[in-house]
Amino acid sequence: MQPRLVLIGTGGTIAATAGDARTLTGYRVTQGIEAMLSAIPGVADIADIHCEQPFNVDSRNLNTAQVLRLARTVNRHLRNPAVDAVVVTHGTDSLEETAFFLHLTTHSPKPVVLVGAMRPASALSADGPLNLLNALLVAADPGSRNRGVLVVMNDRILAARHAAKRHTTRVDAFWTDGAGVLGAITDGQVRYALRPDLPDAAVFSLAGLRALPPVDIILDYQDAPAHPYAAAIQAGARGIIVAAMGNGSLSTAAARGCAQAIRHGLVCVRASRVPDGLVTDSQDDHGPLAAHALNPLQARITLRLALARGLDRTDIAGLLRRL
Ligand code: ASP
Repeated sequence: MQPRLVLIGTGGTIAATAGDARTLTGYRVTQGIEAMLSAIPGVADIADIHCEQPFNVDSRNLNTAQVLRLARTVNRHLRNPAVDAVVVTHGTDSLEETAFFLHLTTHSPKPVVLVGAMRPASALSADGPLNLLNALLVAADPGSRNRGVLVVMNDRILAARHAAKRHTTRVDAFWTDGAGVLGAITDGQVRYALRPDLPDAAVFSLAGLRALPPVDIILDYQDAPAHPYAAAIQAGARGIIVAAMGNGSLSTAAARGCAQAIRHGLVCVRASRVPDGLVTDSQDDHGPLAAHALNPLQARITLRLALARGLDRTDIAGLLRRL
């Protein structure tokens, strides 16, 4: 029997068109998921595919309610014995955020695959149709089971835990440090080289979560000002992630801003603006927590879910160390 896939369209460049084939930017989301699927030859040979379209937007405009809704939908399909895998088409601008959110909130041997495109569907050498075909091949492949949430872009299979957009325009926009490239698709053949180290269970349950607390990210840099910290406290943020320098080093303003925020009951975390490497613990037990292997976006998602679930500072510190 053919694998049964659910294909969820959410928008992005993969679903966008522009005025002519040479226009690679300045496009609009115009295509529904059914139309995108029908543009790919031979899909009926890969799987029995059921399409859904919860929304169709640029991923820069996705809000928390939509991400929660998507995560709930994905979990519902994963629980259905009649579904073998889920594929989500997504804008690349915030794809890594949704992918990491799903990494923390789903747990199933069944594959969950996110896919996008860097060029609109109307462009010369549009990358969307082949990326989507590859994502379907990956989702339908039994070898994709037990590999966690995956991102398929430009012939590569990446672990959602490690995927990040590292180029603004090229089709090979997504890259990760060594641990994140799990495999590749070559001429329709799915091949894996690595199996990721995954948590034993979904780190966070979505049960009863209607919203997530606000957590701000503040970039640190030479001669940084203090006012973003005061603004975050005043706006009601429950936490601050500092995209700090190097191994989580804080400027004077960032250190003072975090101290002030902690006095107001916020949880502060030192992540790094450097793309690779860890942020290690500092000597200050009462200062900002270390993000360890999480980048600022991942640390923010983790902290929001942790605060929503009522974790205290000690539990959050332990979780950041483990993820
Ligand atoms: N603006 C697009 C988005 O929805 C960019 C893309 O998909 O590549 O994220």
